[in-house]
Parts: sequence; C-alpha cells; structure tokens
Amino acid sequence: MGLAGRVIWRYSEANHNALCALGSSSEELAEFKPSDGRIDPSPGDVICYSFRTSELEVVKEEVKGLREIYGDKVTLIAGGPHPSGDPYGTLRLGFDKVFIGPCEEEMAGFLRGEIPKGRKIVTGRSFDISGYPISSDHLPLPKGIEISRGCPHGCRFCQVSYVFGFKVHHRPPESVIQFVSRRGMRVVRFIAPNSLAYMARKAKEPNLDAIERLLVGLRRKGAKQIFFGTFPSEIRPDWVKPEAMRLIREMCDNRTVVIGAQSGSDRMLKLMNRGHSVEDVRRAVEITKQAGLEPRIDVIFFCPGEEKDDRRETFNFIEEMGRMGVVTYAHIFMPLPGTPWADESPQIDPKSLRRIESLVGKGYVKGNWRGHLRILGIRSSLHQPHHSSLSKRLREFPRDDKI
Ligand code: SF4
Repeated sequence: MGLAGRVIWRYSEANHNALCALGSSSEELAEFKPSDGRIDPSPGDVICYSFRTSELEVVKEEVKGLREIYGDKVTLIAGGPHPSGDPYGTLRLGFDKVFIGPCEEEMAGFLRGEIPKGRKIVTGRSFDISGYPISSDHLPLPKGIEISRGCPHGCRFCQVSYVFGFKVHHRPPESVIQFVSRRGMRVVRFIAPNSLAYMARKAKEPNLDAIERLLVGLRRKGAKQIFFGTFPSEIRPDWVKPEAMRLIREMCDNRTVVIGAQSGSDRMLKLMNRGHSVEDVRRAVEITKQAGLEPRIDVIFFCPGEEKDDRRETFNFIEEMGRMGVVTYAHIFMPLPGTPWADESPQIDPKSLRRIESLVGKGYVKGNWRGHLRILGIRSSLHQPHHSSLSKRLREFPRDDKI
C-alpha cells in the first residue's frame, strides 16, 4: 500500500540536488512538489526535509510551526547531512522518520509503504550511484552532476566517509554524457569528494582515460562549459599529477582548481587523518601552476587539538602561498554530526581571527569563514550535552533495519 497524500519537498538552494536524485528514483511512485515558500499541506501529505547543520535553527522553528498547525495529520521526514549524522536529535525536533545516508532505494520503499510506520530511523544503503538516475525529465537540472559517492579517507572533520561510506562508487562516463545530451545541458559541473579519483582503480592514480572519455564525450554532445576540479568537486593534493592537470587545462573552462590543503601543520594533518603532508600540497600547487592553472587551497582553522604552533605554521604557509599568488579559502571548524569530531568545539582565538583579517587585507585569504562564525554562534545556543556519545552510538547503531 502506498501513500494517501502528496509528497511536498521543502526546497532550499542546498537541497536542490537531493530533490533531483530522490524525486527521480521515485518518480513512478509520487510526484515531488518543491515548495520554497510557505508549506501548505493537506492531511495525509508527506513533507520532506533535507538539510545541513547550518540550517538547523530555521528547520527547528518550521517543524515546530507545522506541528502546531497540523499535528500528526502530516508526516514529516528528514534526510541529508545533518539528520544523517544526528538522527536522534532530528527526531527530537518533531520528525516522524529520519533517513540516514544515501536513500534513493529506501525512499522508494517508503513511498511503496514497505517501511513499517513504527520504524523511526531508516539506514540508507543506496551507495552505488551508477544504478540511480541523475534527474528525471520532470525535475530541474541538477546544479552539479554527482559522479562519485563515498570516500576512503575518513578525515575527522568531514561527513562524506561516515555518511556515504568508505567505498567509492562512480557514475560511468557514458551515463553522464547521455544525460547531458538528453537534457541539453550546456554548463556542466560535477560533485565528487575528490574529482581526480573519478573511476580510479588504484589510490593516487587518476584514471585519465575515464576522465578524458567523460570530458570529450560531453563536448561532443554540446556542453559549452565544463568545470572540473573546482567547487563542488575539489582535488586532494596527493592525487595531483602533471598529466591530469594538463587534461583539465585543455578540456575544461575553469582556470582555477581547488586543492584541499586543510592545514599548514603536518601535526594537524595527522590529527585530521588527512593522509598527506604539507609538502604534498606544495608539490600539488607547483604542478598545477606549471599546467597553466591557478591553484586555490582550502584551510580549516581551530580544529580540535590545534595549538599556537600549528596556527603559526599555517599562517606562514598561507603567506608563502599568497606570495606565489595562491589564494587560501579559510574555513572555521564546525563539529558535524556523525563525524569523529562531532562532539568537539572550535577553540576560537581572537588574535588568530585578527591575523586572518589581516591576510584578507593582503588578498591572500578569501572564503566564507565569517559566515561559519555566525553559524557557530547560532549553534552554540543549541548545544545539547547528551549528544556527547553520538559518534559512538552511530557506530553501534543497528544496521539491520533493511527495507
Ligand atoms: S575531506 Fe575530502 S578526502 Fe577527506 S573524507 Fe572528506 S571528501 Fe574525503
């Protein structure tokens, strides 16, 4: 037995791609109605939320309002980065069900009425993206095409491995090309944890044949602009190879690529579980410049365990990069649910913030770090001490809730 009502997708810029993915894989079961204004449901409707930690405060208020007006006449379900990392906290907001991780198949099962009403948490196992559509013809074009899902690196600040798994799955070039051709997509961006790992068979060895097949095929099918190795498909420094960067330079439209440096301190890189060194970043930057591309680097400040000396090394590194014309995108550590550092807090140091400001003045630093600080200000008021063993609970979470 399926659903009685409609499926209303609470739309936000950030969940556009999730709408495309889930709406497409369930299109024979329900029409997903995106709603980015006031949600006006009827009894029996299902309202889907997919949200990030940065939206938590807003979602909390909305759910409270919906419950006050509609009570249990509507079903509220949640998925996406925040609910996947903190399913229990999300249920406490007032949701009926939480979907953890990639859930194309599980969402379809829910719409077919195959998931018992009493099951509050549904663990997604839709890891292999090659089996799921990018976006159906009835839904908008995605902002970026997800070409890889999962990451083997397990960096302690990042949700990707812990939500999408440590095994990487890829969408073959042919299916991406076919989609772009059918939908007449002219500007193509990709979503990948590490774009140079696309279709790779061995660690740190980009599969140039597959990447070239993808890029050439897209051009032949009419793609006018292709962006690869830039947001949201950055590159790990230890995967940067001269041939790979030359290929991007020749085949793509971006003149910048973003390399995940994350720190200028080797000690911090170890703590983060990055699996590469500062020297790897220097080498990647050099190779990228030689290929005629402009490297940009990502750095995260105030991670757990970061000390004065680590920050000094990172500032020196940013200065070194800046003198070479390399801009650093600064980020502030945010404790993301589901990660090993979910229960840590950034140790914000005002003196270091002033130093970041001065590097902005020099043109060496850009990025949304001020926005991150604002979000953290909001989140600190929501801190719930009983979440302290969340990561442990997630690891122990029963994995037998198959549909
Ligand atoms: S930061 Fe990048 S390399 Fe590390 S786990 Fe996340 S996606 Fe993988």
